[in-house]
Amino acid sequence: MFLEPYITQDPKSGWIEIICGSMFSGKTEELIRRLKRAKIANQKVVIFKPSLDTRYADEAIVSHDNNFIHAIGIQHSSAILDSLEDYEVIGVDEAQFFDLELVAVCQELALKGKRVIVAGLDMDYLGKPFGPIPALLAVSEYITKVHAICPHCGSLATHSYRTEQAPSDLVVLGEKDLYEPRCRSCYSKAGQLKLKKDSISKEESV
Ligand code: ZN
Repeated sequence: MFLEPYITQDPKSGWIEIICGSMFSGKTEELIRRLKRAKIANQKVVIFKPSLDTRYADEAIVSHDNNFIHAIGIQHSSAILDSLEDYEVIGVDEAQFFDLELVAVCQELALKGKRVIVAGLDMDYLGKPFGPIPALLAVSEYITKVHAICPHCGSLATHSYRTEQAPSDLVVLGEKDLYEPRCRSCYSKAGQLKLKKDSISKEESV
């Protein structure tokens, strides 16, 4: 379990923590756990999320187990800098949907003494590094990769598999019937099966 290197002392600068993993891996729960601990230490905490994330509730981040905490929806990462004087700990949820400027914003916050905790998907459903997350991993002090469980074989799941019902849009949030976590092997097998199916339906249409 991640334990804070400092919580009430006064280190020379702030730092960046990343919590990443597949869908259903518990990223948001871990973000909320850390933010609640900071609140207990009487630190001023704020959470930002992309404003397109409106599942379940506005102005709150809600994890799959209904644990929630209030959050501010913003369109562009630069808006985080507008209110930074008022807070000591800054959380960012669903960071994969933010613009690439988030990397510079987080570094500026850390330099100004803020503790920045960023949670997001490390890969999209195609298994490709997602948005600003790969660059954030490179510049952060602490990285926690969390895993879901693959429902097919019980291994640790690293990938987010998009089921047949999902629309062909990357920007679809983690609804259980559209995506499922899969281990590397089951994710790869499903991909090969899909390729085979696609080529059969192409042959049939010729
Ligand atoms: Zn598996």
